[in-house]
Amino acid sequence: MKMTYGPRSQKPTINGGILWEGASRIGGKPIVVIATGLKQSSANDKTGSMIQTWIIRSDMLPMEAIWTGEDESICGDCSHRGDGAGKQRSCYVKAFQAPTEIWKAYKRGTYPRLSESDIERCFSDQAVRLGAYGDPAAAPLELWQKLVRRSRTWTGYTHQWQKLSPEWAKLLMASADTPSEMEQAHSEGWRTFRVTIDQHPVDRMEISCPASEEAGKLTTCADCSLCKGTASGAKSIVIKAHGAGKNHTAKFAV
Ligand code: SF4
Repeated sequence: MKMTYGPRSQKPTINGGILWEGASRIGGKPIVVIATGLKQSSANDKTGSMIQTWIIRSDMLPMEAIWTGEDESICGDCSHRGDGAGKQRSCYVKAFQAPTEIWKAYKRGTYPRLSESDIERCFSDQAVRLGAYGDPAAAPLELWQKLVRRSRTWTGYTHQWQKLSPEWAKLLMASADTPSEMEQAHSEGWRTFRVTIDQHPVDRMEISCPASEEAGKLTTCADCSLCKGTASGAKSIVIKAHGAGKNHTAKFAV
């Protein structure tokens, strides 16, 4: 199926499309990268209006992947996956919601495969989030490089930074779970995104996320876009954990 466009608006008639399908760079199992928010970029309070990209197993429901440990193909060894059987999980993404709906739509054949010209049209002048679910490191670097070349700006994060080449640091923030991880990532040329608990002050190498409650919710990711790896010259970013993530972060903080 091909993407079609409205006669007047020239906007895509379908809200999502397939960016890439193939073997995960983490273990070789089948995965797919799907973009949503192409008609009208999706918005939430913190991110603002952004195209979202979803990295999911192509051959099983996201929850099945979590319960069987097969989500390693899309999340690597991220500690937020829990115990590999769906327990002690602390990832902020509710995989039974958007990722499941998107996987089902993908299996129904809802999404067209996006051509180079579709990507050019849909991503031009847009903000894009690399990995609304899943780690971008599971898909080819060249895919993300192509998307950021086309788009106005982007955000992206990886827990796999210790295994990635320096080229990735130009696109993504290293997700640091502890101050010592932050220091290690900095020493290896990464900017970091650190979720912390109340007692940790902002390190001299960091600034608070301007969209956070503690910073007064000054902006959204789409407008701020400081989380674009070393493509931004800003300091690293820190944000206080809230909601379900708070308990998890307390587990890791030292
Ligand atoms: S620093 Fe900016 S881009 Fe990063 S999470 Fe906060 S608002 Fe989003």
